[in-house]
Formats: sequence, C-alpha cells, structure tokens
Amino acid sequence: MPIDATQPYDDQNIFAKILRGEIPNRTVYEDEWALAFHDINPQAPDHVLVIPKGAYVCWDDFSAKASDAEIAGFTRAVGHVARELGLVEPGYRLLANTGFDAHQEVPHLHVHIFGGKPLGPMLV
Ligand code: 5GP
Repeated sequence: MPIDATQPYDDQNIFAKILRGEIPNRTVYEDEWALAFHDINPQAPDHVLVIPKGAYVCWDDFSAKASDAEIAGFTRAVGHVARELGLVEPGYRLLANTGFDAHQEVPHLHVHIFGGKPLGPMLV
C-alpha cells in the first residue's frame, strides 16, 4: 500500500530495521549520513537504494527538516554511489517516490539509482 507523505515516522519500517542491522542487506556504501544497498526486487541491471541515516518519512520531510549538513552529506553520498557503480558514463536515473500518488511504499526516504542499460524516456 502506498503511504501518506504526511504520516509520522514509524521506526518499525523495513528500512529503519535495515539501518539498525535487524534485517540483512547487500550494502554498496555507508558513511555518516547514508546507507546504500541493492534493491531486493531490481528494476534495472543496477538498482540501488540510498537512504539517509536520519529518520525522515519522505523527500518532503527531509527537505523541510534535515540540517544542511545532513542534506549535503546525503546528496554527496548519492553521487558517490553512482560514481562507484561506474554509472556517470553512460548515465543513470534518480527517483524519490513521495507519498500516495507516487506509490511510495516504504516510509523512510529512499532515492532509487537505476542504471546499467538504456533507460528510455521518462514515462510520466
Ligand atoms: P518505493 O515504491 O517505496 O519507492 O520503493 C520501495 C523499494 O524498496 C522497492 O523497489 C522494493 O523492491 C524495495 N524493498 C522493499 N523491501 C525491501 C527489503 O527488505 N530490502 C531491500 N533491499 N529492498 C526492499
């Protein structure tokens, strides 16, 4: 079920459990600000999720409430992961589903990195 972007943070969500090490993941990168791991149901040859260490429901929550240091650290981590995956050339796509209409399912902000094949034009 898609989530409501305005709901309070639920610390029992699956990515909170991954951050606490309660559920295994295939980690690609981790630093003070972010954890990146392979999506369990990849939609492209490279499909990695990058999540902030802080408790933010979605992009709206993060962009409104996170500190400048958290925003900078998270943004740099996303770029770093894409570079480490070798995706800068030929290219990659970032996606942050936010709320019900975007069909966000996990209520902890995550940026999808897609790559490894020509992705075609955006569908929406
Ligand atoms: P959303 O629709 O919320 O933007 O995407 C959630 C993503 O999380 C989906 O692509 C889904 O495959 C992925 N996902 C859901 N549960 C898990 C999990 O337990 N582990 C990993 N690695 N990915 C998950």
